[in-house]
Amino acid sequence: MFELKVKNRFAAAHNLTMVGEKCENLHGHNWNIEVCILGNELNQAGVLIDFGIIKKAVKKIIKTFDHKYLNEIKEFKNIQPSSEQIAIYIAKQLKIFLSNTDPNIKVSKVSAWESENACATYIP
Ligand SMILES: [Zn+2]
Repeated sequence: MFELKVKNRFAAAHNLTMVGEKCENLHGHNWNIEVCILGNELNQAGVLIDFGIIKKAVKKIIKTFDHKYLNEIKEFKNIQPSSEQIAIYIAKQLKIFLSNTDPNIKVSKVSAWESENACATYIP
């Protein structure tokens, strides 16, 4: 079994209701995203998949969030734009991408770091 990890980042604003006083105010984060994918078989090049393919896919997914006010984008209509929900969204989009690219590769986890010390990880 092989696991590959790619990192990317985006900046955005959000506010969360019903969580805590501080989070209810409009504020921003520089989110660091870590995406892990899993697979058993290496291809003819001796890799699970080209890192560039995954990086490009993740970049395209998170472009949806970059420099946006997350509460106002359609992806978070009726959903709190928390780090947990960001991780789920990225995992689901990447799953769709992988099923069309290489069905033998699965998303193992997506982590959304909203600060140096706070991270939400979604494990599908
Ligand atoms: Zn926040």
